[in-house]
Amino acid sequence: MNRFRLPYHLLIEEGIYAHVDEVMSDCVPEIGSKKAVIVTDKNLQGLFPDTLRDLTQDFHNSEIYLVEDGTFDQAVDLAKYICMNDIAVIIGFGGGMVLDLAKYAAFVSKAVFLCLPTTLSNDSLASPVAVLGTEGLKRKTFRCTIPSSIIVDVNIIMGAPQGQLLAGIGDTVSKYTALNDWKLDAAATGKPIDDFAYMISKMAFNSICYNEEKSIKSKSFIKILTQALVMGGLAMEIAGHSRPSSGAEHLFCHSLEENFADQVYVPHGIAVAMGSVPVCIFQNRNISKIKRIIHEYRLPIKPSAWKITEDIFVGAWQQAKATRPDRYTILDQTDVSDSVLRELYSMMEEEFDG
Ligand SMILES: [Zn+2]
Repeated sequence: MNRFRLPYHLLIEEGIYAHVDEVMSDCVPEIGSKKAVIVTDKNLQGLFPDTLRDLTQDFHNSEIYLVEDGTFDQAVDLAKYICMNDIAVIIGFGGGMVLDLAKYAAFVSKAVFLCLPTTLSNDSLASPVAVLGTEGLKRKTFRCTIPSSIIVDVNIIMGAPQGQLLAGIGDTVSKYTALNDWKLDAAATGKPIDDFAYMISKMAFNSICYNEEKSIKSKSFIKILTQALVMGGLAMEIAGHSRPSSGAEHLFCHSLEENFADQVYVPHGIAVAMGSVPVCIFQNRNISKIKRIIHEYRLPIKPSAWKITEDIFVGAWQQAKATRPDRYTILDQTDVSDSVLRELYSMMEEEFDG
């Protein structure tokens, strides 16, 4: 059975980044006086000087570390620096790239990791994996552990670009097809499904699917989206792998990143939502549920809006399986011939927004 751990805290409040030391002191006594490193990047340093000043005042034994390129090498270098200097706390302040690098450095160095997102673009804020750059353009997913605490300042997230929050919704939409692929995998390979991980991931999807609040910059929606993304991360931690949150729609995203990175860039959450539409059709399921969410929030999943031509779309699907050959999904049972994919491309171009 997989052993897992849960974060000490999940706190979603307005203005909470001004007293992170206080809210953490129940699990790490006198955390404010411990040696800490605040991991962020240059752009965020310019955008949030006041928040970073508050953090460095509360953690008076801290220093700021700027992420440059989010590579595996930089994460390991930071872990080494943390170990060599007896740093006890890592505070990740940023988006996916910053949080993944800080999370991996914390995993290697065994420091306490506080996750302070500045946006909600995917489930990296709570997932037990870190996506880091390796040689050249290739990004690879590395297993690590979930944060020690997830602390979300609603005021900061409200200022995040709308497109990033839409990507966070997209990553949640993709659980609908990911969970079905997990079932197919269990049926084909006999590997068991973890019922609790399955349930939590399904709850994450349902919380967005049946949510009444449609204004994505509202406080209540930010809480709902944070909880959905955190549930997605916890489901992976409980299962011990990413199947509760990642099916063939994620393989499509990996394929775009690994085979077409020089031609297109699509944010993770948007690419997987774009992938969920064909996967739902391949799975022969009722697609109205995910189409409704995509239309309600106007998720920009029209392929050409992201410079995905018909040829790139066809190529990405045909090479998707090869990105994770050991992963059983609906693609193992599907005809991904040119004609099928070209028809899907036309349908998506007509139906969805850019
Ligand atoms: Zn994802």
